This record gives sequence, structure tokens and C-alpha cells, in this order.
Amino acid sequence: MGNTVLIVEDNEINRMLLTTILEDDYQVLEACNGREALDILRESKNTISAVITDLIMPEMDGYQFLEAYSSSPEFVNIPVIVSTSQSDSESEVKCLGYGAWDFIKKPYNAQIIRFRVKNVIERSELYVLRKLRYQEQFDTLTGIYIQNMFVHQTKKMLKENPDTEFMILHFDIYQFQVYNSVFGRREGDKLLRHIADMLRKLSGYEERVTYCRIEADVFCICMPAKDSEFIQKMMDEFQKDLQAYQRDYNILSNMGVFYIEDRDASIPGMIDHAKLASRECKGSYIQNYHIYTEQMGKDIQEAQSIVSDMEKAMKEEQFVLYLQPKYGLAKYRLRGAEVLVRWITPDKGMVSPGKFIPVFEKNGLIMKLDYYIWEKSCRLIRSWLDRGIEPFPISVNISRVSMYNPRIVEEIHELTVKYDIPPELFQLELTESAYTDNQDAIKKAMRQLQKYGHTILMDDFGSGYSSLNVLKDISVDVLKLDMKFMSAPGSENQKRSESIVANVIRLAKDLDLPVIAEGVEEKEQVEFLSSVGCEYVQGYYFAKPMPVEEYEKLAFV
Ligand code: C2E
Ligand code: CA
Ligand code: CA
Repeated sequence: MGNTVLIVEDNEINRMLLTTILEDDYQVLEACNGREALDILRESKNTISAVITDLIMPEMDGYQFLEAYSSSPEFVNIPVIVSTSQSDSESEVKCLGYGAWDFIKKPYNAQIIRFRVKNVIERSELYVLRKLRYQEQFDTLTGIYIQNMFVHQTKKMLKENPDTEFMILHFDIYQFQVYNSVFGRREGDKLLRHIADMLRKLSGYEERVTYCRIEADVFCICMPAKDSEFIQKMMDEFQKDLQAYQRDYNILSNMGVFYIEDRDASIPGMIDHAKLASRECKGSYIQNYHIYTEQMGKDIQEAQSIVSDMEKAMKEEQFVLYLQPKYGLAKYRLRGAEVLVRWITPDKGMVSPGKFIPVFEKNGLIMKLDYYIWEKSCRLIRSWLDRGIEPFPISVNISRVSMYNPRIVEEIHELTVKYDIPPELFQLELTESAYTDNQDAIKKAMRQLQKYGHTILMDDFGSGYSSLNVLKDISVDVLKLDMKFMSAPGSENQKRSESIVANVIRLAKDLDLPVIAEGVEEKEQVEFLSSVGCEYVQGYYFAKPMPVEEYEKLAFV
């Protein structure tokens, strides 16, 4: 006797009658009104298989009970039968509206009641079973396959079409959480359902296609392999569709493409490859899809080995300082240097910071490395002073990630105290884009460091979107203008770039900000920079980053 039926009825005689009818086949629980019934349901919702409720009851009547029942999702699988002496269709409709499953009429007919109870219980079990089956295959939000089914169906499709080349596409919305927080979760869900509809349309013109929702805003497609022209067109269509769907927000989608070579490889592995490729888009509007290359896989492996090597490398002093001289442009006179880290490994030789800094920024290790370089730089200045040299200032880089360290100002100040160096000799470079991250905290930290006597250089000025805005409300001492963000000499946009540089320099002069142009490689760039009054330069044209001893020979003759 597995099943339990709950009887909700204020009339004692009716309760008894019903119990008598059912007790041979079911365990029977009794409640005198809706409120009691709800309490019992909440306590033992997993064990109750059906409810029979009267309509007219004191305290909480049958309608109120049904209303509470229908708004509690945890009860959806428990069928409710309404027992009533009224036979007007209006009350029946009302009950059905609240999700009642069936009716029995008073006076009771034992046989009918037993049948109806048995039927609703069977129906609910079937319903639960179907729902479980459904959830095993389909995503409940969008109604398309979930990953497991996608894998299954894709395998089948690959097998049935041995002569067709296929590709896996990884599709997602750039910064979907922003969309969610702008429009709310419900709208976010709606957008996801819309994307599912977009994918459904694919099967309209391609028979051999599978697709699914992997999680959150991530969708996957498998279809016959196409060239990049086709993929670009497909992305253009998707973008157009999304723009038409939501005109108040620029929804940007990204796609990673993986061409399947080894059909027997694992499909989730292929999805991972496509995902890797899609990461390359980084929210670009221009290049919103990327095709997987083996290099991407290698880069990931390399990144992993970089992390595991880092701690050891620090102990073994594999990170060394290089210095790149800076010059006054008027007389080509050396005026200082920027500290650039180099990682010299015993097996891989020199690894460039472009490779490992982004990895360290992702996992936070950069804070350790930054501090390590600052300390070495302070020690270097100390050694110069001890040797009676009057050194030029050197500048160190502060990663944008390090700016999240709440003790950064103290740490830098404490270093200058520990090594007893004049703060003017220890300059700080912070990249422009860092200023937009957590403005208030950074503004405060920068001002404090300036008070301590440090010069602040805004690195990579002009690379972000915020350049001029940032200038308006952050106090910096020097702008570093990177020539690599300008167009190459002779290129179509050179004139435009030149005019931008000239104007930035003029603007900086108005604000009494010295400008240092970095990445200067060509004679023409030098000539142009002098013609517009740029004061300082740094770049391969003058000198490459070099080991400390070499710099010392150059700087302190
Ligand atoms: P950055 O701060 O903008 O540094 C300038 C980069 O441009 C350096 O690359 C430098 O070697 C290079 N460079 C200098 N002159 C020229 C030139 O004329 N042409 C070209 N094409 N490049 C030139 P590097 O040393 O590879 O560093 C790359 C980036 O890594 C740096 O960009 C900086 O963001 C980061 N980085 C380097 N050292 C450190 C460090 O100690 N700490 C932190 N947080 N970041 C560092
Ligand atoms: Ca720099
Ligand atoms: Ca720079």
C-alpha cells in the first residue's frame, strides 16, 4: 500500500465515508480545512499521491486552498480532485483554472471515486515520468537539446554522413550578464529563447544539423563544414536578427569554429576547442568569429606550464630587469628608463612579457610579480646611490590588476622608505584602461602616491576609448603615447593618425602635461614628433630594452 491520499473536508461524516471508501487501497490522511491541508502537504509533499478537497469549508475554503496549491510549484505533480455538491459549470471552471485534475459529486459513489483516484494517480506518475524524460533530453527554458543529447545526435549524424566534413560552432552573447542586469532576468530568458528560435531556423535550409544549449548563454551547432565567407555571412545574419530583436541594446554575439578532423574524438573535446576559438573574439564587433588553430591549444598548454613554473622561477631569480632608455627629443639626451621584466628560463630561453603577463593577470600572480619587480628596482636605485651615482629616474609598470590591492599605496611607500630612495627617482606607469576599472579607488591611490612624491605616467594613452574623459578627472603627470596605436607610415590613415597625435600633444601642452612617445621605430616618426613639439621619446629607433649593466654603461659615463 504505497500511495497516500489526503482528504480535505470539514464535515466529519463525509470524511468518514471517503476514508471508508479508500482505506482498503490507500493510506488516508485527513484535514478539516484548507489551511490544515496545506500544512500537511508541506510536511509530507513527497509522500502524498492525491488530494480530495471539499469546496465549502470554514477558515480556508476549497477555492482558497486551490489558489495556494496552484501557486506552489512544489505541488504541481500532486493531483487534486474536487468533491462538490454543486454542479454549476461556473464553479467547475474556476476549479479547473486553479489546476484541479478531476471532480467527484456528492452523494458519493464508491466505485466512481476509487476509479477517479486511481486514474489521477496514474496520470500524475506518467506526467512526472514524461517530464523527467523531457528534462533528460531538452533544455526546459528553450526547448532545444541539452548537451548530452547534442553529443548523442551529433555522433549519429557524423556516422550517417561519412563523406561530409563537419564543423562545430560555439555561439554565445558577449557579456550576457550585462544584458541580464540591464533588462532583468525575464528578458534575458526571452533573449535565450529567441536565440534558440534562430537556431531552429537553421534546419530550414540544412538538413544535417544539430544544435543545443550548453549552459547559460552558450549554444552549440554542428553542421557541414563551410568556409569563412559563409560563416561571416551567417554571423552577419545572426547579428541582424539580434539587432532587430532588441533595438535598445547592441547585442553582440561571438562564435568559435572547430573543423572536425578526427570523427572519433570526443565531442565535448571538440566543443572545448570551438570555445577556445570563440574566446579570441573578446567582444570585437569586427572579428566576431574565430577559427580554431592548433596554436590556440598550444598557447593554453603553455599558459598552464607558465603558471606552474612561476613560483619556482621567482625563487631562482629567473625574472630579471631590463631597462629601456628614454630620451629628451630636443638634444637626444638620455633622461631615464622604463623597467621591463624579462623571464629567462633554463629550458625555454627568454619568454616575452607579452606571453606571461596576461596569464599572470588572469590568475592574480601578477601582484606578486609586480611587487618583486618594484623591490628589485628600488634595490637597483639604492645600489646606484651607494656607488655615488646621480641616477636618472626609472619607471616601473603597475598592472591594472595590482590596482585592486587595497594596500598598494602603502606597499610602494614602504619600499621607498626601506631602501631610502627619493620617490622622484621611482616613477609609476599605469595603463590608461586601468583608470576605467574602479575609478574612485584609483583616483585616490594615484593622488596619494603623487603626494608621496612619485611621478605618475599614463601608459598606452590613446589606446582605449576613454582617453580624453580620463584626463578630465584624473591627475597624472606624464602621458605616454604609444606609436603602435597609430597607423604605419605610408598607410592610408597616416595623415589622420598624425593629426590625432599632433592634437593630443597640443592638448597635453594646454594641460601642462609632458608627453613621451614610445614605440618610436622610424626616422620619419622622430621628425614628425619633433615638428609637433613632443618632448620625450622611447623606442627601438633610439635603444631597445637592455640588461642593467649595459644601461649603466650608456647612462652613467
Ligand atoms: P608597455 O608598458 O607598453 O611597454 C612597452 C613595450 O614596448 C615593451 O615591450 C617594449 O620592449 C616595447 N617597445 C619599446 N620600444 C619599441 C619599439 O620601438 N617598437 C616596438 N614594436 N616595441 C617597442 P615588452 O617589454 O615586451 O613589454 C610588453 C608589455 O608587458 C608592456 O607594455 C607592459 O604592459 C608589460 N610589462 C612589461 N614589463 C612589465 C612589468 O615589470 N610589470 C608589469 N606589470 N607589466 C610589464
Ligand atoms: Ca609601460
Ligand atoms: Ca606602453
